[in-house]
Amino acid sequence: MSFESLNLHPSLLEVIEKQGYTEPSPIQEQAIPAVLSGKDVMAAAQTGTGKTDAFGLPLVQLLSKGPKAKRIAIRSLVLTPTRELAAQVCESIKPYASAMNLNCDVVFGGVKINPQILRLRQGNDILVATPGRLIDLHNQRAVDFSKIECLILDEADRMLDMGFIPDIRKIIKALPEQRQNLMFSATFSKDIRRLAEGILTKPINIDVSPRNSTAATVKQWVHPVDKARKAELLAHLIWDKVWDPVLIFTRTKHGADRLVKRLEREKIPSMAIHGNKTQGARTRALKSFKDGKIRALVATDIAARGIDIEQLPQVVNYELPSVAEDYVHRIGRTGRAGMDGQAISLVSLDEKKQLKEIERLIKADLESIPVDGFETTETADFVAKNKEAQKEQRKKAQEGRRKNREKRMGAPKASSSKAGASKTSGSKGSAKKSSSDNATSDSTTKKKFNKHPAADHQGLNTGKSKQAFKSTKKRPKNTHK
Ligand code: AMP
Repeated sequence: MSFESLNLHPSLLEVIEKQGYTEPSPIQEQAIPAVLSGKDVMAAAQTGTGKTDAFGLPLVQLLSKGPKAKRIAIRSLVLTPTRELAAQVCESIKPYASAMNLNCDVVFGGVKINPQILRLRQGNDILVATPGRLIDLHNQRAVDFSKIECLILDEADRMLDMGFIPDIRKIIKALPEQRQNLMFSATFSKDIRRLAEGILTKPINIDVSPRNSTAATVKQWVHPVDKARKAELLAHLIWDKVWDPVLIFTRTKHGADRLVKRLEREKIPSMAIHGNKTQGARTRALKSFKDGKIRALVATDIAARGIDIEQLPQVVNYELPSVAEDYVHRIGRTGRAGMDGQAISLVSLDEKKQLKEIERLIKADLESIPVDGFETTETADFVAKNKEAQKEQRKKAQEGRRKNREKRMGAPKASSSKAGASKTSGSKGSAKKSSSDNATSDSTTKKKFNKHPAADHQGLNTGKSKQAFKSTKKRPKNTHK
């Protein structure tokens, strides 16, 4: 199928050609006509399948028929769970919007609000936003929802995971009832379906990927290893297999920072991207990674959402995620746009349960490949004892942090029993912190999608979906032994 046959405006076809896309991806094939029909759409599609253009292109075409946005009004709203994704979606839509003389802007938290308020004054045909900041802006009357014609929920499953649903409901209440609704999600759980029922009216359902599947172009396997030797093994593999670049996932923010230090000691230039980092630091980390200035980017799950890096051949799960669905999202960072990718998990004995859950979810067993010199020695007994010790350690650390906090706030030295001691118990404590993460995307990828039905690797993948389409761009193959 060609883009021409999708009834897209000639100006949009020109931009598509400039992007170097030769044919629509499966989600685009189905979603573009559905969105153009004006009906509500619910689409199951993973990141990396071209889903942004699948709604971006028809959205721009529909909006081009109406009057432009005035003053603080917006005509369409794309909600995303993370700042990175918001920035990236806006970057992807902008060339189409400007070709049709429309404007598109993005707002998210973690940066100053005033410049956003100023920018919103001109009105926007398309606004991409994260929910929290959008609500703030709406409360400050910086944005007018009354002219909204279309609402798009991108990565709805992640919105749900991140607890954004109350915010979304709040936003939806403020929107005009008459509007088109589009919902995109990588996974479709019961909760997501329930959410969809409350938002969409008689939607056209599109499902181009088997549920909870991993891209057919991603090779996946496990290296069993003792927990204490994970960092050593990772450094060994990075050098030995020449992984460059490599995206690494940890479960916690502190874990990410620790690993960066360790990799730096091993002469592997690395940076971390997670929710405790400032917006600037996250943007810099992502840019350095994209520009090839660092070799490893260590990310937590939330921060990694929306990272779209061309030619990302390796993703490493340094620790398995506690939520099995996150595995699917994590490895969706590689094998994007039909390219080959590798997803390697370093799994210690205490992660057996998570591994089983992941395998159940993706309906495939992950091959376990021991690495010479890193054979496991842990026993179930050792793991149990270790867990106890870790619990103790965490308790101690918490206690230490509590004491430090009290010291900083000038609490009395004898903290407990003394009568008449000042009322320290109601510590103001933790400053409010946004859970969303981010950075900007600075490159638009230019790829050609060709269908590639034979891209099923050695039975390690779960689906032989239609979405197996392959980029014609070549990159050196990086095989494992
Ligand atoms: P997305 O699923 O929207 O995150 O898109 C993943 C990547 O695919 C982005 O880098 C797009 O630039 C690229 N892309 C989108 N549509 C096509 C297409 N039809 N052919 C080739 N690449 C595409």
